[in-house]
Amino acid sequence: MKQTLIELQQICKRYDTPNTTNVSVLENIKLTIVEGEFVSILGPSGSGKSTLLRIIAGLVPPSDGAVYYSGQEVRGANPGVGMVFQSFALFPWLTVLENVKLGLENKHLTETVKMRKALSIIDMLGLDGFENAYPKELSGGMRQRVGIGRALVMEPDILLMDEPFSALDVLTAENLKRDLLELWTEKKIPTKSIIMVTHSIEEAVYMSDRAVVLSRDPARIIADIPIPMTHWRDKQDVQFTGLVDRI
Ligand code: ADP
Ligand code: MG
Repeated sequence: MKQTLIELQQICKRYDTPNTTNVSVLENIKLTIVEGEFVSILGPSGSGKSTLLRIIAGLVPPSDGAVYYSGQEVRGANPGVGMVFQSFALFPWLTVLENVKLGLENKHLTETVKMRKALSIIDMLGLDGFENAYPKELSGGMRQRVGIGRALVMEPDILLMDEPFSALDVLTAENLKRDLLELWTEKKIPTKSIIMVTHSIEEAVYMSDRAVVLSRDPARIIADIPIPMTHWRDKQDVQFTGLVDRI
């Protein structure tokens, strides 16, 4: 039996805005993520993808329902996840090494151990030689590598990524996707599951093995589809039409 890592039970989220109250963004979302899955979350703009990811991370509380990580209800920050943001969210006044080490801030580790872990992940992500560089000295792709490094250095069971490639040019994004898929499929990182928000069906098919689709109105899951387990190196040739029809 595969370990259940994340379970969402009847998650509802309503927001109040200056002009409206109780706008429903997520309605009765039920979702289970087990060990080994790479799940994509798709859906139109405003369908609640980022909200769902933030609820899983514990950065935003649900209005109703509960989030479980490894059978434990999550209240506050989810200890099992590392998060990667579309806009990288790096601290401009900190170096690459310092930004990555931030991921270990709340861990009770000695400075030596933090340093060793951070340098190892920097090396793994192809950022060696840039340890002391500042974000503004890096390309977009390298900045996102730092963002991924900061999440992975915690060795989280689950990696959450919110449109991690959409701020990058096509070629840079492609390189980063390949490097990440290699680390993931060859088990060079201890992460057990990945949940990625994307607006690209191609990206979902290429990278993940399950696609969960949200709609805007009603704010529900309208499809939860397994993606054929072709190796990612061969997936560029996969026909997308069948999947598109089902979404
Ligand atoms: P997506 O990532 O799919 O584009 P979001 O989760 O960002 O969707 O947003 C879903 C809806 O919730 C949008 O209509 C957005 O305006 C609204 N929303 C998101 N965050 C807030 C917030 N903090 N306060 C009020 N409304 C919000
Ligand atoms: Mg979003």
